[in-house]
Amino acid sequence: MMQIDASLYREIQDYAENHRVPIINFEGASLLVQTISSSKPLSILEIGTAIGYSTLKFIEHMSSNARLVSIELDPERVMIAKSFIAKAGAEDRVQIIAGDAGSILPQLTGPFDMVFIDAAKGQYLDYLKKVEDKLSQHSVVIADNVLFRGYVESNEAPPRRYKTIVKRLREYLNYVTDHPNFNTHLHRVGDGVAISYYRGKTSE
Ligand code: SAM
Repeated sequence: MMQIDASLYREIQDYAENHRVPIINFEGASLLVQTISSSKPLSILEIGTAIGYSTLKFIEHMSSNARLVSIELDPERVMIAKSFIAKAGAEDRVQIIAGDAGSILPQLTGPFDMVFIDAAKGQYLDYLKKVEDKLSQHSVVIADNVLFRGYVESNEAPPRRYKTIVKRLREYLNYVTDHPNFNTHLHRVGDGVAISYYRGKTSE
């Protein structure tokens, strides 16, 4: 475990607010930290680094011998994430890969004990399917924003511009809820966090 100064988290939060970068909120981050602490993953994949806020939460709470890989599409955010991570003295604790997760995921080598999905909301199921065969036997998959401003569980039609996202997030939730290999808990905190415990391949 590595201690990270609270003032650095505040600096990242201020940057996020000033530059409109979405980062996990307080309740979501607490849940993330609880799950890292109880599951003790040794290999972690984060999809959606943004500016490194959740990445630093992983670094702070994972075991000192854990491996962390994080993917971010936006090159400017990659740069900023790297500078915040360097400020924490943690540049050797994470490999940040710049690019589209959709094309990077098939190239990654697993197994992963924990996957945090927090990138393009319309792509969650695609991401999961691309990493499913790289999950370790007791892997935990965490997905943020799955309730998307309440629209996902609402009976009312979402605004037109959100229709596809809401439909796809419902498909993601249905998949991890109905699939016999996942045991999913939906936490109605923040924007909704789904934690899916992988039970391994039932056919084996
Ligand atoms: N996990 C971060 C945190 O809590 O500090 C927040 C991530 S933010 C909600 C989502 C990030 O995913 C954005 O920075 C966005 O650029 C990135 N993103 C969107 N589409 C992506 C893709 N196809 N591949 C990789 N990253 C993507």
